[in-house]
Amino acid sequence: MEERASVVVVGAGVIGSSVAFQLARMGQRDVVVLEREALPGAGSTAKANGGIRAQFTTGVNVAMSLLSMEILDGLEAEIGDPPAYRKAGYLFLTDSPERFLAMERAASFQEGLGVTVEVLGASEVRRRVPWVSGEGLAGGTFGARDGFIDPGRLCGFFVSMAAAGGVRFAYGREVVAVEPRPGGEWVLRTATGEAFTAPHVVNAAGAWAGRVAALAGIDLPVEPVRRHIFLTGPVRDLPPVIPMTIDSDSGVLVRREGDRVLIAYSNPDEPAGFNLAFDPDFVHRFAEPLDRRFPAVAAGGIDSRRSWSGLYEVTPDHHSVIGPVPGRPGFLLANGFSGHGVMHAPAAGRCVAELIVKGRAESADISSLSLSRFQAGELIHETMVL
Ligand SMILES: Cc1cc2nc3c(=O)[nH]c(=O)nc-3n(C[C@H](O)[C@H](O)[C@H](O)COP(=O)(O)OP(=O)(O)OC[C@H]3O[C@@H](n4cnc5c(N)ncnc54)[C@H](O)[C@@H]3O)c2cc1C
Repeated sequence: MEERASVVVVGAGVIGSSVAFQLARMGQRDVVVLEREALPGAGSTAKANGGIRAQFTTGVNVAMSLLSMEILDGLEAEIGDPPAYRKAGYLFLTDSPERFLAMERAASFQEGLGVTVEVLGASEVRRRVPWVSGEGLAGGTFGARDGFIDPGRLCGFFVSMAAAGGVRFAYGREVVAVEPRPGGEWVLRTATGEAFTAPHVVNAAGAWAGRVAALAGIDLPVEPVRRHIFLTGPVRDLPPVIPMTIDSDSGVLVRREGDRVLIAYSNPDEPAGFNLAFDPDFVHRFAEPLDRRFPAVAAGGIDSRRSWSGLYEVTPDHHSVIGPVPGRPGFLLANGFSGHGVMHAPAAGRCVAELIVKGRAESADISSLSLSRFQAGELIHETMVL
């Protein structure tokens, strides 16, 4: 027995649910989302820090962020209280005069694209965030419209709104085969023995997207890479709201999480792979820069029981892959967000839904995010990668 749909989305993380939400808003009927877990958002979405920023150095990353912010602002009343998108800002800091110059150049590039960003000298940084050690500081940049989103809440919102709009979410359905059928249909088979057919398939399988693409004979360069998040114990000597504050020289970033502080740090030596094991010793990799730049945070100590690891889904140029696959009509990709999947989910969902419903992405120019860029050697270079 086959179930027919107009669109089958693989994966009910923040990306797949955003696509489903936008399809429902555009009046698309018969959309099915297949998710292997028992719940939506149980993959990387549940592990994310939830940062949202427009401080990037490529036009397409800035455009995706601004579109997402606009969509989130427009949905504020529907998502309800407390606001899912809290504009506490992103503050990038550096000790290096050369890096500060590059940050100033990035800020003027961003301003030219409509981003709200301020360049701050060392004394202004010290005034605004006195809890940061200002020793040796060259300066920083602050984006007031940047901030954080609650990833699980955003995903849950998309799921419930999409479901209310008629989208069917089928959980416990792992897609194990993807076959093209003459006449332009795709057949997706699940481990439960069911088959779903549709002219449009959206791969929204996050860190597992390469495997789902391979089922359809597509070579998609998306690799899983483990990332850690640590929480401190309660920290009282800090304001209740602080910006996402990044020591750009080391890559250590901190933000408030209730009465604690969340710390993230990207290990440049982390090998690609599906290793999800939490490593409590990882803390030693960032202890020195944390102590030096954020002593008030370090004083809270690390609470390893409230810390975790998850998977980034990384492409060779740290930009997502969104759009059709040459030679595979109807198969669409929304993958490889490389640490930006939560913040770019609203925009990605809109663009993918437009590709299906209108035949082209109207809300943003996503042509540079095509899969073919890897073969054509047209990689995009972003320097503000976290
Ligand atoms: C520690 C950490 C911190 C992060 N911080 C940020 C941040 O600050 N800001 C930001 O924007 N992003 C951040 N990210 C990245 C962000 O979490 C991801 O980019 C985003 O969640 C990707 O969403 P997704 O829906 O594509 O993937 P997922 O949430 O992983 O969803 C994919 C879904 O597909 C399902 N699936 C996989 N294979 C199959 C199959 N064969 N059949 C059916 N279902 C399948 C999975 O079960 C999963 O539910 C962070 C990630 C981590 C790990």
